[in-house]
Amino acid sequence: MSGTTLATAAQPGDRLRILVVSTPVGALGSGRGGGVELTLTSLVAGLLERGHRLTVLAAEGSQLPAACAGAALWTCPGVDQPSWQHMQREAAVQIPTDGLLPRLWRRALETAADFDAVINLAYDWLPLWLTPSTAAPLFHLVSMGSVAAVMDGAIAEVARWDQRRLAFHSHAQAADFALPQPPVVVGNGFDLAAYDFVAEPEPLLGWVGRVAPEKGLEDAAAVAAQLGERLAVWGLVEDPAYAAAVEASVPSGTLDWRGFLPTAQLQAELGRCRALLNTPKWNEAYGNVVVEALACGVPVLAYRRGGPGELVQHGVTGLLVEPDDVAALAGAVGQLGGIERRACRAWVERQASRQAFAERIEAWVRSGLGR
Ligand code: UDP
Repeated sequence: MSGTTLATAAQPGDRLRILVVSTPVGALGSGRGGGVELTLTSLVAGLLERGHRLTVLAAEGSQLPAACAGAALWTCPGVDQPSWQHMQREAAVQIPTDGLLPRLWRRALETAADFDAVINLAYDWLPLWLTPSTAAPLFHLVSMGSVAAVMDGAIAEVARWDQRRLAFHSHAQAADFALPQPPVVVGNGFDLAAYDFVAEPEPLLGWVGRVAPEKGLEDAAAVAAQLGERLAVWGLVEDPAYAAAVEASVPSGTLDWRGFLPTAQLQAELGRCRALLNTPKWNEAYGNVVVEALACGVPVLAYRRGGPGELVQHGVTGLLVEPDDVAALAGAVGQLGGIERRACRAWVERQASRQAFAERIEAWVRSGLGR
């Protein structure tokens, strides 16, 4: 732990008792919660390091990583919530029979009096709707941009009531919602010790993400094909038909499918790339994989859109081109010589360490509690 962290850690009387409510999509450790799992680990481990007392409420079968061993884990059985990610914009709220979501929130409300704050990490209607109607101090770290009208309405309602209860990962994400005040933007946090800096890359381009249309793999594949280079692809194939269509769109051998790897292995392979191509088609709330690449010293070439458009420092840690301009992205590969790999790592150390993230989360919660 750094001296700074010790110096700023909460004193006994100042310690917060925080309940963190996880996603109702998949047990922790299953990978099904996507980026939220990484956010939860950073948030919990970072707040523990700052001296706070943490309890995590999550789906039955969940496991906390070693970094969160100091937190209590409570689990609940129940049927997974359908994710909003792939719903129609006008879809209604659905709660399945024996649903996990209402069970998590019944437990949270029953025990809320034992906590100073309850932080919700799930992108769901129910906890947002409850917020203005309960004395329990509910906070929400919103994990996606706008995907459904009913969610937009629930977020706007909490914002009108007391916007200090909401935080976002990026300004671009927050701009999707009707917010009366400037947003609290907390970014995200990463355990730098888990990512090795690689000074000398191999002649390889990389792409990381769920293989699904909103992630835009086809554009990165087109860049690799145009340059006659190989593109290594890491991630869960969520949509096999889409993956097959991308594979068919480029000469065979262009895509090198590496599968979904645990962080330790992913970072070891990713670090060898000379650049990460990041090509989402939606308003990506943050872009964990952008920061993970930078942490290994890998420059990022991305569209000027969403979280990645804010994370990449043009000309310093990578290059940004106009959204969906594949030719410009291919041209950017030729300009990689101007980017220093050390500068990529240094940016993550300054802006996106777990410690920096935990400080921002604590400041948000204290301000929302009016302390
Ligand atoms: N990921 C992983 N192994 C892989 C590919 C991806 O662990 O082989 C993780 C990656 O580290 C990141 C998450 O999957 O934390 C994806 O999060 P992101 O915010 O980029 O996108 P989301 O899937 O949440 O839309």
